[in-house]
This record gives sequence, structure tokens and C-alpha cells, in this order.
Amino acid sequence: MSRIARVIVDVPSRGTDRPFDYLIPDSMQGWVEIGSRVGVPFGPRTLQGFVIGFAEQSETPDIKLKPLKELLDLIPPLSEDLIELSAWMSARYACHRITALQAMLPAALKGKAERYIRVADPSEWGERGDTAAADDEPALFETVEELDEAEATIVAHIRKQQEVRMEHLSRKFAGHADVIKRLLQRGVLSETRSIRDKVQKKTVRTVSLRLPEDEIRTIIDEFPARAMRQKEVLAFIADIGGEVSMKEILTVLGVTAGTVKSLADKGYIAIQDTEVFRDPYKDRHFKPSQPFVLTDEQQMVYDAIVQRIDSRTEGEFLVHGITGSGKTEVYLQSIQRVIEQGRQAIMLVPEISLTPQMVERFKSRFGDHVAVLHSRLSSGERYDEWRKIREGQALVAIGARSAIFAPFSHLGLIIMDEEHETSYKQEESPKYHARDVAVHRAHQHQAVVILGSATPSLESYHASRSQSNEELQPTLLEIHGRALGSELPEVRIVDMREELKEGNRSMFSRPLHDAIADRLEKKQQTVLLLNRRGHSTFVMCRTCGYVAECPNCDISLTFHQRSNNLRCHYCGHAEPAPEVCPECGSEHIRYFGTGTQRVEEELAKLFPGIRVVRMDVDTTTQKGSHEKLLNTFRDRQADLLLGTQMVAKGLDFPDVTLVGVIAADSALHLPDFRAGEKTFQLLTQVAGRAGRHHLPGEVIVQTYNPDHYSVVHASKHDYGSFVREELKHRKGLGYPPYCRLLLVTFSHEKLPLLVRIAENYVQMVKDQAQRLGWLGSLERFSTEALDVLGPVASPIPRLKNRYRFQCMIKWRGDMDVARLAEFISQQLQDSARDKELLISIDVDPQVMM
Ligand code: ADP
Ligand code: ZN
Ligand code: ZN
Repeated sequence: MSRIARVIVDVPSRGTDRPFDYLIPDSMQGWVEIGSRVGVPFGPRTLQGFVIGFAEQSETPDIKLKPLKELLDLIPPLSEDLIELSAWMSARYACHRITALQAMLPAALKGKAERYIRVADPSEWGERGDTAAADDEPALFETVEELDEAEATIVAHIRKQQEVRMEHLSRKFAGHADVIKRLLQRGVLSETRSIRDKVQKKTVRTVSLRLPEDEIRTIIDEFPARAMRQKEVLAFIADIGGEVSMKEILTVLGVTAGTVKSLADKGYIAIQDTEVFRDPYKDRHFKPSQPFVLTDEQQMVYDAIVQRIDSRTEGEFLVHGITGSGKTEVYLQSIQRVIEQGRQAIMLVPEISLTPQMVERFKSRFGDHVAVLHSRLSSGERYDEWRKIREGQALVAIGARSAIFAPFSHLGLIIMDEEHETSYKQEESPKYHARDVAVHRAHQHQAVVILGSATPSLESYHASRSQSNEELQPTLLEIHGRALGSELPEVRIVDMREELKEGNRSMFSRPLHDAIADRLEKKQQTVLLLNRRGHSTFVMCRTCGYVAECPNCDISLTFHQRSNNLRCHYCGHAEPAPEVCPECGSEHIRYFGTGTQRVEEELAKLFPGIRVVRMDVDTTTQKGSHEKLLNTFRDRQADLLLGTQMVAKGLDFPDVTLVGVIAADSALHLPDFRAGEKTFQLLTQVAGRAGRHHLPGEVIVQTYNPDHYSVVHASKHDYGSFVREELKHRKGLGYPPYCRLLLVTFSHEKLPLLVRIAENYVQMVKDQAQRLGWLGSLERFSTEALDVLGPVASPIPRLKNRYRFQCMIKWRGDMDVARLAEFISQQLQDSARDKELLISIDVDPQVMM
């Protein structure tokens, strides 16, 4: 039995980012575990906290320890491995421990302290009242009669309910705050603080017989005539089989709850509240599905994975298989294997791919053993899905990024589909990447990780080819053919510069125009993609395709309207915006970009009567709208599906024979070193949407950069060549996977102060790195090197009236750069003593803004 619990309290600040010691009261001995959620006194407040360990002696013995106040759950919401994981996350991503812990729990468990009021034992009355009176007239003799009318009403109300939330009381007796206060002061009422969850468990009230049926039958027969209603109720319960919900009795028989209660008072029946789970899928029926006989390629991949699963040792696989190659079927069968061993599995998918069809594939294979975690659920539903996992009812969790924290106790498999997706990285604190967390969790459980993609990220692919990454060393498994044998569609590149030269100023090239017209005639469907990322931030010549780039960074420059100049957001290089194209002298140099709405208008003009479904952030904000739009298209009530990235994901429509990409270039020139990779991924994805079934597909890609390797290789479905070329670039310029990055963003309302801080920061990092022997150019390909770029203004230079600056640390080697960055951030914040100054650290950033 430990005497002391070490608790992380729910205050995300540096001063509180350490465990605090509390005595474990006798009543909680044996109940408090590592991972328990507790209420603790903290200064004048009551806070929620998590037990991360135990001790016999406090490290600060001179301070009088306070006891834990309450234990909030009978089963700890966090397991010991998740507590350990939070420590790892806090070190790796330079975040507070509590922030990591909170990320693991459903929002419903972010409990807050509430004040509860009850009527004090009369012996306590007056204790806190005015002392003069208390001296000669003992409080003991004070009685209810001494309360005035208003006071008596309030006391009676509270007494009836035993305990009332302060919030409820002040609402119910609005305008009587002074009376309540007076009663509290006099000690008639007493106050306790307790943590209350935002969402409560859902219960149903059930009624059951407490005596054997034959005894009940006798009681029914002998029931006095004046209690007809009670007799009816008792007979109803007995007839139905001994147990029934209260609601049913009330609605079917039309009796009052009081009638039922009198039967309970007589001891014939018991009334209980039973917990139930809110199930967002309860009204849907899922047709059971059987595993397919695997193709030879699938079988080879499956065998390799299962061998590792059976060995019960950790290991990682990268499954590279083209769209439609049957990866999902391999996932399903691998999960089946793990379940048969009594272990559990997590299936991660990007949020926008978490479609009803996706869920259906898992539910129809694993039925009620599947818990689905996604953001469109209400917090109550989410909480219940989470509890199904924690309480062992679910064996498979499917969900977006945060499902990586699904509280399974015997994890056997973690799958990350479309592992290249940037949404696996969380952009707010804790800024974790689900891939890295997956690998760490898998090691804790001796579980297997499967990363799957048609276009693996360069980080994962490179890690599978070299031994350069210590954390991630996946075995590469490839599937080249489609499971259903269909061919990948033909991709045609249309050079938009040529179109302009020949007098076509429309956003539709002639080939794309004609192809759409052709599909309309044949009554086949078209998907049209408009890549909106990077909308009008870069400068491009429409005549020759020239894009202004930084001479130092090989990154496109960003146009700043106010100053009319171009800037690099990595190194700070700036130059005036050109009036004419420096390459060809054309005046058609402008800020690129069109919105989906304009495309829709243009379509209506060119093809009168065309039925278009538009899918973008504007049309999909409402719950369920995404699904509704897709159903409209699926049911053939539309000829063309127009949209942003969303249309590229996992959709599978048999009648789509044409996919058009309006501007393949727009993402190519974002100030992001991954721009080429993202363009390749998007084009490959969208090309996979055409001709998935028996009808052959065609893809038309419009571009001003027909020779760019991302476009060329995507059009040939050639991942290998793309990767070779992209890796060459990355190596030359010193970007991941050849080094790691850490982005530091500074923000403050006052620009001069911000610039000074940012400059100091960079200097301090350099000094410290020099001292540690880390500083050196990455170009020399030594095993350890560190470089600092910046500070420069952030790509979004001002946000909510705060200026933003950033610097980037690049490094190679296993130095603890996150810790260095955090340490210097603390030093600067301490010396600045300015609460307005924010310094945020992003380890392995995915978004450079
Ligand atoms: P991916 O996840 O790689 O895009 P899927 O698993 O969705 O591929 O498979 C594509 C299509 O092929 C689906 O309709 C799926 O039902 C079907 N399929 C997959 N494997 C097999 C198989 N072994 N036999 C028959 N059909 C299969
Ligand atoms: Zn030009
Ligand atoms: Zn630059």
C-alpha cells in the first residue's frame, strides 16, 4: 500500500508541468491506480488530475501534503502504458504532460470542478455564523423556525434533493443570491466541490421482480381491489418475463411513476438504473461479409504480416499498393488474425476517408466488435464508443488520428491507411504525428504496425530502403496489380500554355471540354478536381509557365500584395513583383487561382442543363452534407462531381469514366518543400477514381508545367521514378528524410519586440549548439549536424492582430533538439516576463505556415 499518489494536475502551464504529491486516504486505498482520474485540492481550487505513480516519501517532505479529494472513475480511464506514452510525447513534442494526457481522452472526460450545496447537519449550524452569537447561544439550539420564509423555502428545496449544484440553485432562485450567501455564511448550508464530467453515462431505468414468479402470481391474485393500477403493473411485469423498462410501463399502461414506486416500497419489485451505450449505428443493418480468397500478391503480403503477428514481436510494414489493389482486404484479414489471438486492433484512416462505406466494410466483417471514433459524433456518442473499448467490448477501433490512443489493453495490430496524409499530424498542441505514436505504442505492446498507401510518404519509403531512421524501419511489401484485374486509366497531359497560344482563354482546354461533352452524351459520369491549396499566393506566367522561386531555397516565392513584392518564407529573401515575365517577356503574369464556384458557373455556361454536384468546404459544413452530396452523385442524379481534395479520396463509383484536373500546378508552387510530393499524391489519387470497374477510364490533367517530374510521373503511375527524383532534390537541399525539422513560431502584438526575441532565439540556439558541438552544415553529410534558418516573417505574417515570425532548425543525428528548443524558449520567456509573448514549437512540421 502506497501512501502517496503522484498527480499531474489539469493546468497546462510550465509551472505546473510536474507531478504533485497527495496523500491517499484510507477509503481510496486499493482503488487508486496508475491512470486513475482524481479530484485534488490545488490552492483554493479543486482540479482534475491523473495519477502517474506512487511514492512512500514525498520529495518535498517539509510541505504538509493534502489528501486526494475524490476518485472520479472506478476503472481508471488511462492505462499504465498510456501514462508512459504521455511522458514520451511530452519529451518528443516539447508539450506539457497534461496536454498529452488530455489528447488521449474523449472530451466528455474533461471534467470541471462544480460547487454542490447541501443542508448542513443542524449541529454545524452557526459554526461559521457570527461569533458573538455563537458564544453564549450554542448553535445546537438553532432550529428551522429561526429561518425566515425565503430561507426556509430554499432550505426545503435543497433538503428534498439532498444535494444541489450551485449553478442550478442560482438559476432556480435567481434574485435571492443574498439569501443563499447568508445561509452559507451562517453554516446552514454547506458547500463541497467535486469534479463533474461534461457528459454523463446514459442510463435506462428498468424494473424487475424481486420475488419468484409463483409468489408474485399469488400476490397478484390477492391484491386489494382499490390498488387496481398496482396490480396491473405487477401482472404486466410478470407476463413480460420479469424485467421491463420503466418507460415501457408508463407508456403502455398509462400509470404514474408513483404507482410503480409503491410496488418497490412493498418489496415486490426493484427499480434500477442500468447503463447503456449510445450507438450511432444502431439503426443500420450491416450485411455480414466473408473474407475474399486473396490474390497471389495479396497472399504474399498477408503471409509476411501474419508471420510477424504470430511471433508476437513488434515490427513495421509499409504496404505500397496502387489504388484498388486490395489493401483494405489484407487489413481486414490481418485484424481477423489478431482478434483470434485475443488481441485488439486499431485502424486509422484520414478523417475525410472515414466514410459510411468505409465503416460498413469493417462493421460487416466484425459486427458489434467495432468502435468508430470520429469527429462527427456527438460527444456523448464518442464517449460511449470510447468506453466500449476501455471496458473490453470492442476489439477493433476505427477512426481518425486520435484513435491511436484507443485504450486497448492487448493491442496486436495498428494499421494506418493512406499513411502519407498530412492530417495524421496534429497542428495544435500536442503536435504529434500518429505514425510515430503508433510505432511507440506498438513497441509497448509487441504489436505490428502496417502503414499502407498508394503513394507512401518519402519519410516512410526512405526508412524502408535505408537504415537511416532509428525509430521506423518498415519492411516494404508491394502490390502491383488491381484486385479486380482492371487496368489503371490512361492519363493525358494538356499543356495550358499551348491552349493560350492558340487563343483559348477559358479554364477548360479543348480536350477536356470535348471529353465532358462526350460523357454527357454517353450518359457516363465525370469527376472534376480543382486544387484550391495555394490559391493565388504564387506568381505564374500563363504564357510560359514560369513561376517565381527563391534562389536559395528552391521554394516558390509568396506574393505580398501590400508591399507588392515576393518573399521566401524559409530564408527571408525578397524581391519586387515582376510586371512582365522574366523568362519570356509576356504580360500574362498574374496571381494564379480560381474557385470552385467560378468553375461551376463556367460549366453551366458551356454545357447548358448539366447537373453538377459541388463539394468543397462551403457545401459540406453541415453534418451529413458530405454523404448526401455523394449519394446524389451515386444515384446518378448528377452528371458531374466538382470539388477540391475531397473528391480524390477513396470514392468508388462504377459509372465514372472521366476524371479532369483543372490546374495540377496550384499545389506545386506552395512555399512548402513537400509541394512536389503532394501534387504527385493528389494526381495519383484522383487518377485512381476513373475506370475502377468494367468501363475503361480516362484522366485529363491540365497544367502549365507539363514537364514537371511530379506531373509526368503521376501521369505514368510511376511512383518509383518519382521517388528517385524527389529524393535527389531533398538530399541536395537538405530536407527530410535526409534531416529532421523543427519549426519555432513567435508571436506578439509588438513587431519590434518580436523581431528582437526571434533574433535572440536564433542566436541562442546557435551558441548552444556550438557549445554542444552540434553546429555544422548539413551539406557535408556528416552524421551529426545542425543548422538554423531565419528568423523570417511567417507565411501568415499577422494573425488576430499578432505578428508572427518563425525560424527553422534542421538537423541530422539523434540529438535532443526538441529539448534544446524548449529550454531556450523557457529562458527567453522568463527574461521577457511578458505573458503576451508566445513561442510555439513544432517538431517534424507538416505545414510550414
Ligand atoms: P485498396 O484498399 O487497395 O484501394 P480495396 O481493398 O478497396 O483496395 O479493393 C478494391 C476492390 O477489390 C474492392 O471492391 C474489394 O472488394 C475488391 N477485392 C479486394 N480483394 C479482393 C479479392 N481477393 N477477391 C475479390 N475482390 C477483391
Ligand atoms: Zn513567361
Ligand atoms: Zn529562400
